[in-house]
Amino acid sequence: MKNLISIFISGILLFILAGCGGTGYSYLKVDRGIKQSLRLLLEKNKTTSAVAINSPFKIESSGTSFGPKIIKIEVNSNSIIIDGNSYGARVKIIPENQRFTISGIEYRGNLILYCEDGKFNAVEDFSIEEYLYGVVGMEMSGNCPIEALKAQAVAARTFSYYEAEIRHTKEYDIDNLLQSQAFSGTSSENPNSIEAVNQTSGEVMKYNGSVIFAAFSANCGGYTEDNKEVFGIQLPYLQAVPCTFCKRYPNASWQDEISSDHIIASLRKKGIDIYNINAIEINDTSITGRVKQVSLLTDRGNIRITTNELRLAVGSNKLKSARFTVRTRGNTMIFTGKGWGHGVGMCQDGADGMARNGNSYRRILSRYYIGVEIGPK
Ligand SMILES: [Zn+2]
Repeated sequence: MKNLISIFISGILLFILAGCGGTGYSYLKVDRGIKQSLRLLLEKNKTTSAVAINSPFKIESSGTSFGPKIIKIEVNSNSIIIDGNSYGARVKIIPENQRFTISGIEYRGNLILYCEDGKFNAVEDFSIEEYLYGVVGMEMSGNCPIEALKAQAVAARTFSYYEAEIRHTKEYDIDNLLQSQAFSGTSSENPNSIEAVNQTSGEVMKYNGSVIFAAFSANCGGYTEDNKEVFGIQLPYLQAVPCTFCKRYPNASWQDEISSDHIIASLRKKGIDIYNINAIEINDTSITGRVKQVSLLTDRGNIRITTNELRLAVGSNKLKSARFTVRTRGNTMIFTGKGWGHGVGMCQDGADGMARNGNSYRRILSRYYIGVEIGPK
Protein backbone atom coordinates (compact mmCIF):
# COMPACT_ATOMS: atom_id res chain seq x y z
CA MET A 1 0.00 0.00 0.00
CA LYS A 2 1.18 3.46 -0.78
CA ASN A 3 1.25 6.09 1.84
CA LEU A 4 2.15 9.24 0.05
CA ILE A 5 -0.11 11.46 2.06
CA SER A 6 2.29 10.93 4.94
CA ILE A 7 4.78 12.99 2.99
CA PHE A 8 2.23 15.78 2.91
CA ILE A 9 3.47 16.77 6.37
CA SER A 10 4.59 20.25 5.52
CA GLY A 11 3.81 23.89 5.64
CA ILE A 12 1.77 23.35 2.53
CA LEU A 13 -0.61 21.17 4.46
CA LEU A 14 -0.90 23.68 7.24
CA PHE A 15 -1.74 26.20 4.59
CA ILE A 16 -4.33 23.82 3.25
CA LEU A 17 -5.85 23.27 6.65
CA ALA A 18 -5.79 26.92 7.49
CA GLY A 19 -7.37 27.71 4.18
CA CYS A 20 -10.34 25.38 4.50
CA GLY A 21 -12.25 26.90 7.32
CA GLY A 22 -14.13 29.74 5.77
CA THR A 23 -16.33 29.59 2.78
CA GLY A 24 -16.75 25.87 2.14
CA TYR A 25 -16.22 24.30 -1.26
CA SER A 26 -17.56 26.07 -4.23
CA TYR A 27 -14.89 25.40 -6.80
CA LEU A 28 -15.74 21.88 -7.92
CA LYS A 29 -19.32 20.73 -7.63
CA VAL A 30 -20.12 17.08 -7.01
CA ASP A 31 -23.25 15.56 -8.46
CA ARG A 32 -23.91 11.86 -8.16
CA GLY A 33 -23.55 10.18 -11.52
CA ILE A 34 -22.08 13.20 -13.26
CA LYS A 35 -18.46 13.02 -14.23
CA GLN A 36 -16.99 16.24 -12.92
CA SER A 37 -14.07 17.36 -15.04
CA LEU A 38 -10.59 17.44 -13.58
CA ARG A 39 -7.37 18.97 -14.91
CA LEU A 40 -4.31 17.17 -13.58
CA LEU A 41 -0.84 18.65 -14.09
CA LEU A 42 1.35 15.81 -15.45
CA GLU A 43 4.55 17.50 -16.59
CA LYS A 44 6.05 20.97 -16.36
CA ASN A 45 8.98 23.00 -17.70
CA LYS A 46 9.37 20.79 -20.78
CA THR A 47 11.07 21.88 -23.99
CA THR A 48 10.38 18.75 -26.02
CA SER A 49 8.32 15.60 -25.65
CA ALA A 50 6.79 12.80 -27.72
CA VAL A 51 3.13 11.89 -27.35
CA ALA A 52 1.73 8.63 -28.70
CA ILE A 53 -1.93 8.57 -29.69
CA ASN A 54 -3.24 5.26 -31.00
CA SER A 55 -6.57 6.50 -32.35
CA PRO A 56 -7.54 9.33 -34.73
CA PHE A 57 -7.36 12.69 -32.94
CA LYS A 58 -8.12 16.37 -33.36
CA ILE A 59 -6.20 19.47 -32.38
CA GLU A 60 -8.91 21.75 -31.07
CA SER A 61 -7.82 25.05 -32.59
CA SER A 62 -7.16 23.63 -36.06
CA GLY A 63 -10.25 21.48 -36.63
CA THR A 64 -8.11 19.08 -38.65
CA SER A 65 -8.20 15.33 -37.98
CA PHE A 66 -5.04 13.28 -37.75
CA GLY A 67 -4.45 9.55 -37.88
CA PRO A 68 -3.01 7.54 -35.00
CA LYS A 69 0.65 8.51 -34.64
CA ILE A 70 3.44 9.70 -32.39
CA ILE A 71 3.67 13.48 -32.39
CA LYS A 72 6.62 15.62 -31.43
CA ILE A 73 5.92 18.53 -29.08
CA GLU A 74 8.26 21.53 -28.92
CA VAL A 75 7.96 25.14 -27.85
CA ASN A 76 9.07 28.31 -29.57
CA SER A 77 8.34 32.00 -28.87
CA ASN A 78 5.47 31.22 -26.50
CA SER A 79 3.84 28.83 -28.94
CA ILE A 80 3.33 25.07 -28.86
CA ILE A 81 4.89 23.40 -31.91
CA ILE A 82 3.42 20.05 -32.94
CA ASP A 83 5.33 18.19 -35.66
CA GLY A 84 6.79 21.51 -36.79
CA ASN A 85 3.51 23.47 -36.91
CA SER A 86 2.76 26.30 -34.50
CA TYR A 87 -0.56 26.20 -32.59
CA GLY A 88 -0.34 29.12 -30.17
CA ALA A 89 0.20 29.38 -26.42
CA ARG A 90 -2.40 26.77 -25.44
CA VAL A 91 -3.62 23.75 -27.35
CA LYS A 92 -5.97 20.85 -26.61
CA ILE A 93 -5.44 17.48 -28.26
CA ILE A 94 -8.60 15.35 -28.39
CA PRO A 95 -8.04 11.62 -29.05
CA GLU A 96 -11.07 9.75 -30.38
CA ASN A 97 -10.49 6.90 -27.91
CA GLN A 98 -9.65 9.31 -25.06
CA ARG A 99 -6.20 7.81 -24.50
CA PHE A 100 -2.73 9.26 -24.95
CA THR A 101 0.76 8.26 -23.80
CA ILE A 102 3.38 10.74 -22.62
CA SER A 103 6.74 9.80 -21.05
CA GLY A 104 5.76 6.14 -21.34
CA ILE A 105 2.59 6.43 -19.24
CA GLU A 106 -0.89 6.08 -20.72
CA TYR A 107 -3.57 8.52 -19.56
CA ARG A 108 -7.29 9.01 -20.15
CA GLY A 109 -9.04 11.99 -21.67
CA ASN A 110 -7.64 14.93 -23.59
CA LEU A 111 -4.18 16.45 -23.40
CA ILE A 112 -3.78 20.18 -22.84
CA LEU A 113 -0.40 21.78 -23.50
CA TYR A 114 0.30 25.37 -22.50
CA CYS A 115 3.31 27.65 -22.53
CA GLU A 116 4.81 29.08 -19.38
CA ASP A 117 8.12 30.93 -19.07
CA GLY A 118 9.32 29.78 -22.49
CA LYS A 119 8.61 26.11 -21.76
CA PHE A 120 5.47 23.99 -21.85
CA ASN A 121 3.39 22.11 -19.29
CA ALA A 122 1.16 19.09 -19.92
CA VAL A 123 -2.27 18.67 -18.32
CA GLU A 124 -4.59 15.65 -18.38
CA ASP A 125 -8.16 16.79 -19.02
CA PHE A 126 -10.52 14.05 -17.84
CA SER A 127 -12.91 13.45 -14.91
CA ILE A 128 -12.37 13.16 -11.19
CA GLU A 129 -13.97 9.71 -11.21
CA GLU A 130 -11.47 8.50 -13.82
CA TYR A 131 -8.66 9.98 -11.72
CA LEU A 132 -9.94 7.97 -8.74
CA TYR A 133 -9.85 4.71 -10.76
CA GLY A 134 -6.07 5.15 -10.71
CA VAL A 135 -5.70 6.60 -7.22
CA VAL A 136 -7.66 3.79 -5.56
CA GLY A 137 -5.71 1.25 -7.61
CA MET A 138 -2.42 2.70 -6.41
CA GLU A 139 -3.40 3.31 -2.80
CA MET A 140 -4.85 -0.15 -2.13
CA SER A 141 -4.40 -3.61 -3.59
CA GLY A 142 -7.16 -4.70 -5.99
CA ASN A 143 -7.37 -7.87 -3.89
CA CYS A 144 -8.84 -5.97 -0.92
CA PRO A 145 -12.57 -6.56 -0.31
CA ILE A 146 -14.84 -4.25 -2.29
CA GLU A 147 -16.13 -2.47 0.85
CA ALA A 148 -12.55 -1.51 1.80
CA LEU A 149 -11.94 -0.25 -1.73
CA LYS A 150 -15.19 1.74 -1.59
CA ALA A 151 -14.04 3.32 1.70
CA GLN A 152 -10.75 4.20 0.00
CA ALA A 153 -12.63 5.61 -3.00
CA VAL A 154 -14.71 7.95 -0.83
CA ALA A 155 -11.65 9.00 1.21
CA ALA A 156 -9.62 9.63 -1.95
CA ARG A 157 -12.48 11.50 -3.64
CA THR A 158 -12.92 13.68 -0.54
CA PHE A 159 -9.18 14.35 -0.40
CA SER A 160 -9.13 15.21 -4.12
CA TYR A 161 -11.85 17.83 -3.80
CA TYR A 162 -10.10 19.25 -0.78
CA GLU A 163 -6.79 19.45 -2.59
CA ALA A 164 -8.34 20.90 -5.76
CA GLU A 165 -10.09 23.59 -3.78
CA ILE A 166 -6.89 24.76 -2.17
CA ARG A 167 -4.29 24.21 -4.84
CA HIS A 168 -6.01 24.84 -8.16
CA THR A 169 -4.57 27.36 -10.58
CA LYS A 170 -5.92 28.88 -13.76
CA GLU A 171 -4.59 25.92 -15.76
CA TYR A 172 -5.01 22.90 -13.48
CA ASP A 173 -6.90 21.63 -10.42
CA ILE A 174 -4.39 19.15 -8.92
CA ASP A 175 -0.62 18.94 -9.39
CA ASN A 176 0.32 15.28 -9.83
CA LEU A 177 3.99 16.25 -9.47
CA LEU A 178 3.44 17.08 -5.81
CA GLN A 179 3.37 14.02 -3.61
CA SER A 180 -0.15 13.75 -2.37
CA GLN A 181 -2.18 10.82 -3.62
CA ALA A 182 -0.47 8.16 -5.72
CA PHE A 183 -1.46 8.11 -9.40
CA SER A 184 0.22 6.76 -12.51
CA GLY A 185 -2.30 6.84 -15.35
CA THR A 186 -4.29 3.84 -16.56
CA SER A 187 -1.62 1.42 -15.32
CA SER A 188 -2.78 2.29 -11.76
CA GLU A 189 -6.30 1.03 -12.44
CA ASN A 190 -7.79 -2.42 -11.92
CA PRO A 191 -11.37 -3.73 -12.33
CA ASN A 192 -12.02 -3.58 -8.58
CA SER A 193 -10.73 -0.02 -8.18
CA ILE A 194 -13.04 1.02 -11.03
CA GLU A 195 -15.96 -0.85 -9.46
CA ALA A 196 -15.36 0.77 -6.06
CA VAL A 197 -15.29 4.26 -7.58
CA ASN A 198 -18.41 3.61 -9.65
CA GLN A 199 -20.36 2.17 -6.71
CA THR A 200 -19.64 5.29 -4.63
CA SER A 201 -19.95 7.75 -7.51
CA GLY A 202 -19.84 11.36 -6.32
CA GLU A 203 -19.85 10.51 -2.59
CA VAL A 204 -17.71 12.59 -0.25
CA MET A 205 -17.38 13.04 3.50
CA LYS A 206 -18.50 16.28 5.10
CA TYR A 207 -18.48 17.69 8.61
CA ASN A 208 -20.81 20.55 9.41
CA GLY A 209 -21.49 20.87 5.72
CA SER A 210 -17.86 21.19 4.56
CA VAL A 211 -15.72 18.63 2.76
CA ILE A 212 -13.25 17.22 5.27
CA PHE A 213 -9.50 16.75 5.22
CA ALA A 214 -9.62 12.98 4.62
CA ALA A 215 -6.14 11.90 5.68
CA PHE A 216 -5.35 8.19 5.59
CA SER A 217 -2.32 6.02 6.12
CA ALA A 218 -1.21 2.44 5.64
CA ASN A 219 -1.30 0.93 9.14
CA CYS A 220 -1.98 2.73 12.42
CA GLY A 221 -0.29 0.09 14.60
CA GLY A 222 -3.33 -0.22 16.87
CA TYR A 223 -4.28 3.41 17.49
CA THR A 224 -4.87 6.19 14.98
CA GLU A 225 -3.43 9.61 15.77
CA ASP A 226 -5.12 12.91 16.53
CA ASN A 227 -4.66 15.33 13.66
CA LYS A 228 -3.32 17.98 16.02
CA GLU A 229 -0.33 15.80 16.95
CA VAL A 230 0.79 15.41 13.33
CA PHE A 231 -0.55 18.34 11.34
CA GLY A 232 -0.93 20.78 14.21
CA ILE A 233 -4.61 21.60 13.93
CA GLN A 234 -7.44 20.17 16.03
CA LEU A 235 -10.17 18.72 13.83
CA PRO A 236 -13.20 17.18 15.56
CA TYR A 237 -13.49 14.37 13.01
CA LEU A 238 -9.80 13.38 13.15
CA GLN A 239 -9.37 12.17 16.71
CA ALA A 240 -7.28 9.23 17.86
CA VAL A 241 -9.33 6.02 17.86
CA PRO A 242 -8.36 2.44 18.74
CA CYS A 243 -8.04 0.06 15.80
CA THR A 244 -7.75 -3.67 16.34
CA PHE A 245 -8.35 -4.60 12.72
CA CYS A 246 -4.82 -3.96 11.44
CA LYS A 247 -3.07 -6.16 13.99
CA ARG A 248 -2.24 -9.14 11.80
CA TYR A 249 -0.79 -7.19 8.88
CA PRO A 250 2.93 -7.11 8.07
CA ASN A 251 3.41 -3.45 9.02
CA ALA A 252 1.58 -3.71 12.36
CA SER A 253 4.96 -4.17 14.04
CA TRP A 254 8.46 -3.90 12.66
CA GLN A 255 12.10 -3.59 13.55
CA ASP A 256 14.65 -1.77 11.46
CA GLU A 257 18.38 -1.54 12.02
CA ILE A 258 19.73 1.69 10.59
CA SER A 259 23.46 2.33 10.62
CA SER A 260 24.64 5.45 12.40
CA ASP A 261 26.57 6.34 9.23
CA HIS A 262 23.33 6.40 7.24
CA ILE A 263 21.62 8.57 9.86
CA ILE A 264 24.59 10.97 9.98
CA ALA A 265 24.79 11.22 6.17
CA SER A 266 21.01 11.75 5.93
CA LEU A 267 21.01 14.47 8.58
CA ARG A 268 24.05 16.19 7.03
CA LYS A 269 22.13 16.38 3.74
CA LYS A 270 19.41 18.22 5.65
CA GLY A 271 21.94 20.73 6.99
CA ILE A 272 22.53 19.19 10.43
CA ASP A 273 26.33 19.33 10.58
CA ILE A 274 27.35 16.30 12.68
CA TYR A 275 30.06 13.64 12.29
CA ASN A 276 29.20 11.29 15.11
CA ILE A 277 26.04 10.13 16.85
CA ASN A 278 26.09 8.11 20.07
CA ALA A 279 22.42 7.69 20.79
CA ILE A 280 18.92 8.91 20.09
CA GLU A 281 16.76 9.78 23.09
CA ILE A 282 13.00 10.22 23.01
CA ASN A 283 11.92 13.55 24.50
CA ASP A 284 8.20 13.67 23.99
CA THR A 285 5.41 11.32 22.93
CA SER A 286 1.72 11.76 22.15
CA ILE A 287 -1.03 9.99 24.12
CA THR A 288 -1.09 7.22 21.51
CA GLY A 289 2.64 6.64 21.99
CA ARG A 290 3.95 8.35 18.89
CA VAL A 291 7.28 10.05 19.34
CA LYS A 292 7.02 13.79 18.75
CA GLN A 293 10.60 14.91 19.38
CA VAL A 294 14.00 13.24 19.84
CA SER A 295 17.43 14.34 21.04
CA LEU A 296 20.43 13.29 18.96
CA LEU A 297 23.46 12.83 21.22
CA THR A 298 26.21 13.92 18.83
CA ASP A 299 29.76 15.28 18.64
CA ARG A 300 28.12 18.71 18.45
CA GLY A 301 26.15 18.16 21.65
CA ASN A 302 22.45 17.37 22.00
CA ILE A 303 20.40 18.31 18.99
CA ARG A 304 16.61 18.26 19.25
CA ILE A 305 14.60 17.48 16.12
CA THR A 306 11.05 16.43 15.47
CA THR A 307 10.26 12.84 14.56
CA ASN A 308 8.95 14.06 11.25
CA GLU A 309 12.31 15.66 10.45
CA LEU A 310 14.06 12.44 11.42
CA ARG A 311 11.69 10.31 9.29
CA LEU A 312 12.05 12.53 6.26
CA ALA A 313 15.85 12.50 6.65
CA VAL A 314 16.44 8.75 7.06
CA GLY A 315 13.48 7.72 4.87
CA SER A 316 9.86 7.00 5.79
CA ASN A 317 10.32 3.48 4.35
CA LYS A 318 12.99 2.76 6.96
CA LEU A 319 11.50 4.60 9.92
CA LYS A 320 7.96 3.58 9.06
CA SER A 321 6.07 5.40 11.79
CA ALA A 322 6.51 7.61 14.84
CA ARG A 323 5.45 4.78 17.18
CA PHE A 324 8.90 3.46 18.00
CA THR A 325 11.53 2.88 20.63
CA VAL A 326 15.20 3.10 19.76
CA ARG A 327 18.41 1.69 21.20
CA THR A 328 22.05 1.75 20.16
CA ARG A 329 24.07 -1.38 19.36
CA GLY A 330 27.59 -0.57 18.24
CA ASN A 331 27.37 1.46 15.07
CA THR A 332 23.68 0.70 14.59
CA MET A 333 20.44 2.21 15.83
CA ILE A 334 17.74 -0.39 16.34
CA PHE A 335 14.24 0.99 15.89
CA THR A 336 11.32 -1.16 17.03
CA GLY A 337 7.93 0.18 16.04
CA LYS A 338 4.28 -0.23 15.15
CA GLY A 339 2.37 0.79 12.03
CA TRP A 340 3.32 2.55 8.82
CA GLY A 341 2.57 6.20 8.11
CA HIS A 342 1.41 9.17 10.14
CA GLY A 343 -1.61 7.30 11.52
CA VAL A 344 -4.13 10.12 11.04
CA GLY A 345 -7.56 9.19 9.64
CA MET A 346 -8.40 5.91 7.94
CA CYS A 347 -6.07 3.00 8.59
CA GLN A 348 -5.91 1.21 5.23
CA ASP A 349 -5.06 -2.18 6.74
CA GLY A 350 -7.79 -1.58 9.33
CA ALA A 351 -10.27 -0.83 6.54
CA ASP A 352 -9.28 -4.10 4.87
CA GLY A 353 -9.70 -5.95 8.18
CA MET A 354 -13.08 -4.35 8.89
CA ALA A 355 -14.35 -5.23 5.42
CA ARG A 356 -13.20 -8.84 5.88
CA ASN A 357 -15.26 -8.86 9.10
CA GLY A 358 -18.37 -7.89 7.15
CA ASN A 359 -18.43 -4.13 7.70
CA SER A 360 -19.71 -1.77 5.01
CA TYR A 361 -17.66 1.10 3.62
CA ARG A 362 -19.89 3.52 5.54
CA ARG A 363 -19.14 1.79 8.84
CA ILE A 364 -15.44 1.77 8.02
CA LEU A 365 -15.39 5.49 7.25
CA SER A 366 -17.49 6.37 10.31
CA ARG A 367 -15.00 4.59 12.54
CA TYR A 368 -12.00 6.59 11.38
CA TYR A 369 -13.69 9.93 10.62
CA ILE A 370 -15.81 10.81 13.65
CA GLY A 371 -19.26 12.28 13.08
CA VAL A 372 -19.01 12.79 9.32
CA GLU A 373 -21.84 12.66 6.82
CA ILE A 374 -21.30 10.56 3.72
CA GLY A 375 -23.12 11.48 0.55
CA PRO A 376 -23.14 13.68 -2.53
CA LYS A 377 -21.85 17.16 -1.99
ZN1 LIG B 1 -5.17 0.32 12.27
